[in-house]
Amino acid sequence: MKAVRLRGNSTCTVDEVPDPVPDEKSVIIRVEATGVCGSELHGFRAKPEELGKELNGGHEVAGEIVWAPKGSAYKPGMRVGARVVQGCGTCNWCKQGDETACENKSFYAADGHAELYKLGLHGIQPLPDNVDWPGGVILSGDGLGVPTRCARRLGDTAGKKVVVLGLGPVGLSCVLVQAFRGAHVWGADISPYRLDLAKQLGAEAAYQAEPKELEARVKEWTGGFGADIVILAVARAESIALAFELVRRHGMVYQVAEIHNAAFNFSRGFLYKEATMMGSWYYTSSDWPLMLKMHQEGLQYRKLVTHVMPMAQAQQAFNTFIAGESGKVVLRMRGEQGAKA
Ligand SMILES: [Zn+2]
Ligand SMILES: [Zn+2]
Repeated sequence: MKAVRLRGNSTCTVDEVPDPVPDEKSVIIRVEATGVCGSELHGFRAKPEELGKELNGGHEVAGEIVWAPKGSAYKPGMRVGARVVQGCGTCNWCKQGDETACENKSFYAADGHAELYKLGLHGIQPLPDNVDWPGGVILSGDGLGVPTRCARRLGDTAGKKVVVLGLGPVGLSCVLVQAFRGAHVWGADISPYRLDLAKQLGAEAAYQAEPKELEARVKEWTGGFGADIVILAVARAESIALAFELVRRHGMVYQVAEIHNAAFNFSRGFLYKEATMMGSWYYTSSDWPLMLKMHQEGLQYRKLVTHVMPMAQAQQAFNTFIAGESGKVVLRMRGEQGAKA
C-alpha cells in the first residue's frame, strides 16, 4: 500500500510499504480521509536522526472497514472513524468510559496517513450516513473530541464570556462548540486567516493583539472583571501567564494544548485571583454521545475543514497547515483527489 512517511527536517514522502497485518483484536480500514494535526508537527520538524525509525503520522482517520475478526460486532463495509487512545476495556477507568486514564491503554496514533490502517476494536466510532469523509475525520477525531471533552468538563457555559487563546483546528473547534452552547466567545491568534475563520464559526470578536492590548480589550469587554473562562489552545509556555492575566477573579483557565514546562508566577496567577485551572487530553468513549448529539443538532463542524488534498500532495498539505492559512487540512487517500474543501 501507499503511505506517507515523515522524513525529518519538515519533509515527507509517499512510499510503497507493507500492508498492515490483521489480528483478532483489530479491524483493517480502507482509509478515505485523514486530518493533519498540530501534534504531528514535532515529528515532522524533527531531525532525521531524532525520528529513530520510519515514522508515519496520522491519527485522525475515517474510512471503511475491509476486514474484521469473525464474530466481532464490526463488518466489512461499515463507515467508521478512529478513537486512537484505547483502554483495556475491563478496568474501573474503562468501565466508566475514561479510557485515557487506563493503565494498560493502547495507542493507534500513527500510520493513519496510508491506504490501509489497523485500528483496535475498542476505538471504532461508527459514522452517521449524513457525514462525508472529511467531516467524519473531524466528527470522530480530536477535532471535535477535544473541544467536546473540554465542554463536558466545563459544564454549562451559556452566557459566560470565554476567550480562546490559539486558533489552530482545536482552538477553532472550541470556539465553535462554546458558541453553539451559548457562550460569548472571543478568539486570539497571530494568523489573520484564522481570526476570520473564528468569526465565521461563532466568535463575537477575534484579535491578533499584543498581550497588553488583548488584556485591555478583554477588560473593556467584561466591565473590568476579566473573562469567566480562558481556554488555552496554543502550545506556548508564555500563554499560561497571559491566560491568567485575562481571566477574572475566581475564573477558570482550561488547558487543551500540550505545554510541558513553563515559568509562571503562581501567586499572581492563581493565589491572589483564587482562580481554577483544569485540563483534558484527547477524548474518550464517554464524550462520543455528546459529539453525536451536537452533530444531530446541526453543529457546523464541517466548516473547520478548509483544505482537502490528495495523499500525493502530503508535503504541500503539511506546508499549508504550518503556514497558518488554514483550518483543518485533510488528506484524501482515494477518490475525489484534490477536491475542494
Ligand atoms: Zn490530532
Ligand atoms: Zn482499562
